[in-house]
Amino acid sequence: MGIRLPLLAALALCTPLLAGAAPAEMPPPEAPFAASSRGAPSPLDTMLPAAPEGIPDWRVPPESRRSRSVGAPNDGRLEHGVPLPLEGPGFVRFDRDSHYGTDETIALIEYAAARLALAFPGTAPMLVGAISREEGGKLPHHRSHRTGRDVDIAFFERGNVGRTLFNEALTADDVDYAKSWFVLEALITTGRVEYVFADHSLHAGLMAAAREAGWDEDTLDAFFLLEDESGYRGIIRHAPGHLAHFHVRFRCPEGDADCESY
Ligand SMILES: [Zn+2]
Repeated sequence: MGIRLPLLAALALCTPLLAGAAPAEMPPPEAPFAASSRGAPSPLDTMLPAAPEGIPDWRVPPESRRSRSVGAPNDGRLEHGVPLPLEGPGFVRFDRDSHYGTDETIALIEYAAARLALAFPGTAPMLVGAISREEGGKLPHHRSHRTGRDVDIAFFERGNVGRTLFNEALTADDVDYAKSWFVLEALITTGRVEYVFADHSLHAGLMAAAREAGWDEDTLDAFFLLEDESGYRGIIRHAPGHLAHFHVRFRCPEGDADCESY
């Protein structure tokens, strides 16, 4: 608990500085969590972490963007999809022609993987599965993944075992929650994650890892709450079939006017 609170306080203090350091064209981020609508704003609502030294920034200035996410994740398309390399610092991916995303999606994946490699030297790489096809649209075996804003990432396995597939019989006891949470935290704290889908049998392990990393109980609600009496739900949600991997849905990139959430 102790380590995160000073960090949060420092980040809160630094936020105007960090925002000021961003290119003038960059709009302020949307509040990352619906938690702010529940009452007291979360400290994360104003959190805009700078990339640690040596880590590529996940923010893509509008003038250097190529992609456009159009429509809803289950019904839209991707224009000028940006490819994720076959491998890079901290990650490898499937070679199945579904490795295209928005500029921001690709930058976020590379950012989280690079942070993983820095925090866990010698770690087995993060295994990235489906994102979208180059022009988006229907991807076999997936309902969404059509607009370059969805990515499947394998849960990490204990013992630093390198994952190669998503359909292995990984049980809840086999999951390396510290690394899996680390990647989720790196992504969520950018404010660009709309939802994460993971089987509910893994939520307790992830929540324990988040608590271990120092997050307070209110913020854990913003991450994990299944549903309260007002219908509020946290970012990380149950979805069947997500035992070996988790699915991250990113928000519409700022300025992609025809991009839709649902
Ligand atoms: Zn998926």
